[in-house]
Amino acid sequence: MPDAHNIIENFIDGKYQAPVNNNYLDNIEPATGLIYGQIPNSDVADVEQAVTAAQQALPAWRALDLEQRADYLIAIAQEIENQLESLALAEATDNGKPVALARMVDIPRAASNFKFFAHACSQFASESHAIANSAINYTLRQPVGIVGCISPWNLPLYLFTWKIAPALAAGNCVIAKPSEVTPKTAAMLGAICQKVGLPNGVLNILHGSGASTGSAICNHPKISAISFTGGSATGAAIATQLAPKFKKLSLELGGKNPALIFDDCNFENTVAEVFRASFANQGQICLCASRLYIQRGIYEKFKTALIAKAQALLPQDPLLNDTKMGAIVSKDHLEKVLGYIDLAKQEGGTILAGGEQVHLSGRCQQGYFLQPTIIEGLSNNASCNQQEIFGPVITLQVFDTDEQALALANESQYGLAATIWTQNINRAHQLAEQVNTGIVWINCWLLRDLRTPFGGMNHSGVGREGGLEAMRFFTEPKNVCIKY
Ligand code: NAD
Repeated sequence: MPDAHNIIENFIDGKYQAPVNNNYLDNIEPATGLIYGQIPNSDVADVEQAVTAAQQALPAWRALDLEQRADYLIAIAQEIENQLESLALAEATDNGKPVALARMVDIPRAASNFKFFAHACSQFASESHAIANSAINYTLRQPVGIVGCISPWNLPLYLFTWKIAPALAAGNCVIAKPSEVTPKTAAMLGAICQKVGLPNGVLNILHGSGASTGSAICNHPKISAISFTGGSATGAAIATQLAPKFKKLSLELGGKNPALIFDDCNFENTVAEVFRASFANQGQICLCASRLYIQRGIYEKFKTALIAKAQALLPQDPLLNDTKMGAIVSKDHLEKVLGYIDLAKQEGGTILAGGEQVHLSGRCQQGYFLQPTIIEGLSNNASCNQQEIFGPVITLQVFDTDEQALALANESQYGLAATIWTQNINRAHQLAEQVNTGIVWINCWLLRDLRTPFGGMNHSGVGREGGLEAMRFFTEPKNVCIKY
């Protein structure tokens, strides 16, 4: 648990403990740019301890009555709800996101993840296949064993628990690592597990960098599956390392998500929702729209409406209750995003709104703030239309026909999420079928049902999370054939 000096420790075998190597990394508050705590930079020695604890806990946890397992998950969910305010404040401080967003989205969703999978495990059934007059097959779905869950910084507790909850529900013991950039709410989850009496060793939380802690988790021979969410380059590196080790691997990676906006859309609603899809969480959601394709008939009107909204959205201290745009997560990330804006200018783009770092006064004077940025005039193969920026930057392009819109949207190595904005139901269905993404939203964005398959294709990932997909990933199917 972070102490008075904000030193976070690992959570292993139900106890907080310092890293074996006594090595720590600084934790920086994005809104102030100041170091406000430290976290372990754990290595193989800490992973070894966590694996030993998980091995000891595994037989009893996997044998536990389903209802009792579900009761633990429900108790964790309830405790997250009880601690909503302190978790939301921690998330906003650590990540730079508006505290109101953490209060409304991040923390409630973390609780929902545990509740959802508490119920899902009681509904999870396996198949049977009869061979007429001769035999029956039935399939056991057994826990994989010890699994590694590695998550990114953009939705810290939300995505951390999106992996941990199904892994535990399926009867596995977990070694989990949050991003080193946003460790705080993950550290607080350990105390929640203690409070509800989760058996020691069932969930172990290690902190540190990808190179040290993440790679030690991925490479440990007793960790049989890795569920990873993060950048595509990291996913590729992990896949390369793990291929000869034959581990189960789920990869949720980057995106460059198209929004297809047609002349016949509900204009007011579409402007509001597309704007939210572009800039929520400072544009740092893997599902955010970043390439906006707008049909010619409404292009100028839509562009003008977006610019007005962008100019009115002023970054503020994330800890203020009325803040709608907070800080970019780190100095490195701010520089990366600003670098893309420069590149856009070099590649012929025009900045219609934003484009500059914002300097606030007072507590936040050294914080990492950026104006919502809108760019037009780039070709579809420009860097800002092909590479993931993962910040508050969108590009606008015009199209005339459905075929053009589809071709532009599909001209990408990514394939995570697309949005389609039209009142024409035939067009919507046809495009949904043909767009190369794992998720399509029509006239909405980020409307989530936790039962649905979640994930992307191509460079956006391999495998799906959510609902039964997650339960399948975290179990090993074993077919038993009986001849009679
Ligand atoms: P990242 O790839 O840098 O890091 C993600 C996690 O992996 C962190 O915990 C990091 O410490 C760890 N890591 C880094 N190198 C590792 C290695 N070699 N071995 C094991 N672990 C390693 O990503 P990020 O910058 O934290 O997050 C932003 C990225 O995440 C964006 O690309 C975004 O699109 C993606 N993302 C995807 C989804 C999705 O569901 N598809 C959701 C959220 C974010």
